[in-house]
Amino acid sequence: MKNKFLIDKLNENKALSHSEWLKLISDHDNEEREYAAQTAREISVGRFGKNIFIRGIIEFSNVCKNDCLYCGIRRSNSELSRYRLTKEEILSCCEEGYNCGFRTFVLQSGEDMFYTAELMCEIIREIKKRFPDCAVTLSLGEKSEEDYRLMFEAGADRYLLRHETADETHYRSLHPPQMSWKHRMKCLEDLKEIGFQTGCGMMIGSPFQTAECLAEDMEFMCAFKPHMIGLGPFIPHSATPFRDKPAGSLELTLFLLSLCRIMLPDVLLPATTALGTIDPKGREYGVLAGANVIMPNLSPTAVRKKYMLYDNKICTGDESAQCRACLERRMNSIGYSIKITRGDHISHD
Ligand code: SAH
Repeated sequence: MKNKFLIDKLNENKALSHSEWLKLISDHDNEEREYAAQTAREISVGRFGKNIFIRGIIEFSNVCKNDCLYCGIRRSNSELSRYRLTKEEILSCCEEGYNCGFRTFVLQSGEDMFYTAELMCEIIREIKKRFPDCAVTLSLGEKSEEDYRLMFEAGADRYLLRHETADETHYRSLHPPQMSWKHRMKCLEDLKEIGFQTGCGMMIGSPFQTAECLAEDMEFMCAFKPHMIGLGPFIPHSATPFRDKPAGSLELTLFLLSLCRIMLPDVLLPATTALGTIDPKGREYGVLAGANVIMPNLSPTAVRKKYMLYDNKICTGDESAQCRACLERRMNSIGYSIKITRGDHISHD
């Protein structure tokens, strides 16, 4: 455990230098991972008890103008049949979710210009009117500052926009030349400035990612102080240029989840669906490594298989209520329970 002292240093709320991050990320063994998980778990149990927040995710459109090399709903995937949910369809997902105990709805989509800021505001206002005790999280990709502001004023509470990688050169190897790392980072700054509870994050084991990239991710997040971090393994999708690339590892994803929890003790940290896809117990392990949020699917079953960001995505056949019951069982099996609450970040409580 030669790098245990770095985990302790992080736990003392001290920033690690670039070379220390590099050391910890590139050179750690089982014991160090277990030590990090235990430390992270103690922190999350101390802050949240053995309670898990749930967010119902509604994947309302798989139309996307972007062509990210890793993503199954990229524009160039001509094998995919595209769909858009209407406002009423979105609202009925919320209704079903509300009855299952969800108090946060996450609206996620490709970058679909059909949903203008005006239309999104209408949807947000209607959700807030019908479910005043619920939070709305958006995950719509890059928009103008003006659009973000309008949606915030319409009542949206949170916004998830993974930075994908803090290394500009790495960003260029994952995205077509039309997409800009600087613009994505600017969007994150705007979101925070406007007042959203803001989430960033990255895939673990994405093609061309090095320990150096992950060290930069951790340093970026240490400075940015996001309210939420979305972190899951990269998983190849058969209709993308990365179809033959290996998936990210369970162990490394869990280790980074723990380090995120130790670095930002209050952060809202989901055990992601991608983590549950690479291992049947991935989400349970995620919670035991310091995660405190689960984001099951609330999309209508008819469209779930069309929102395949990566191959073999789990829970695409189940009804929302089944998902909810299954997660309850999974969490109970490791001594945790699901809490019916908005589950805001402590700074916005
Ligand atoms: N259009 C929105 C939502 C994107 S999908 C946006 O741009 O933010 C949400 C996240 O899924 C992405 O940010 C990406 O990190 C993740 N993702 C996409 N393809 C993936 C893959 N093949 N494996 C694992 N995660 C993937």
